Amino acid sequence: MEPALKINNLQVSYYTDAGRARALDGVNLTLNPGEKLGLVGESGSGKSTMALAMMRMIKPPGRIEGGEVIIGDVNLTTLSEEDMLKARLSRIAYIPQGAMNSLNPVTRIGAQMVDAIKAHDTGMSKKEIIEKSMESLESVDLKREVFKMYPHELSGGMKQRVCIAIGILLEPQVIVADEPTSALDVITQRQVMETIDKVQDKLGAAIILIGHDMGLMAQFVDRVAVMYTGRLMEVSSVKDMFTRPKHPYAVDLIHSLPNLENKGVFKGIPGVAPALLRLPSGCSFHPRCSQAIEICQKDTPPYQEIEDNRFAACHLFQEKA
Ligand code: SF4
Repeated sequence: MEPALKINNLQVSYYTDAGRARALDGVNLTLNPGEKLGLVGESGSGKSTMALAMMRMIKPPGRIEGGEVIIGDVNLTTLSEEDMLKARLSRIAYIPQGAMNSLNPVTRIGAQMVDAIKAHDTGMSKKEIIEKSMESLESVDLKREVFKMYPHELSGGMKQRVCIAIGILLEPQVIVADEPTSALDVITQRQVMETIDKVQDKLGAAIILIGHDMGLMAQFVDRVAVMYTGRLMEVSSVKDMFTRPKHPYAVDLIHSLPNLENKGVFKGIPGVAPALLRLPSGCSFHPRCSQAIEICQKDTPPYQEIEDNRFAACHLFQEKA
């Protein structure tokens, strides 16, 4: 099967007065069509930078310094600005954090959808564009009447669904959703996630779901990728990640979650994540790692396959890889 998305050695840095911060440091990831990947990690680990880099939306003082983002046979990192504009929505869609607040409050939903399609050379007539927009609303379980409504007439969950409907208008192969359910109540969160699930099934698109809510991840994704200081630490199936995490950081992250056994006694990860401007030498997790060995302070562990379809960056698994 041809992958829907291939990310090779993606690198992003931010240049500040205090120096260079490597926000993404050689990320490699492959997703198959229809696959759902959850991207987790502490704040500042690079999750949102990854989404923005895939969309080519990194703003100065940041820049993509290397690597590839390949969808189908197109490398997004080498497209002209004009072609990248067309690739957004048609190849890759982005549902940002607080997307529902990005709707224009003084423009009807339908007009916003029509504008999104018109920004692409689809060759569709006005009638076809309107029909496509209404179908898209229906596919996220909204009524056709929403087309004529203003954002303030909709609930938070409905607005978020409108954003998903806009995202899928041109049937992208990859959807990146950055905390799509933050600021929604638990019931609405679930409904929005079910909507994402349903539209993904229909499109056969690959999804990267960025978030903090591991419980939600456990229910909706096939694989989990754990990020730390701009690098992937472990990528495993959701079952393996929750039942037998391998990388020491992933182990700590999973053990810090509440469950029936620890009955509300949470075990945090010792220390704090380092600033990207002052990363420790070797493995960036070594000052916090209870399993660190001598080499960890000196050499950065390579990210490699440690079991079938399971990847990690840790010296402990070097021999087994
Ligand atoms: Fe811990 Fe060393 Fe593995 Fe880093 S490479 S996670 S410090 S054991």
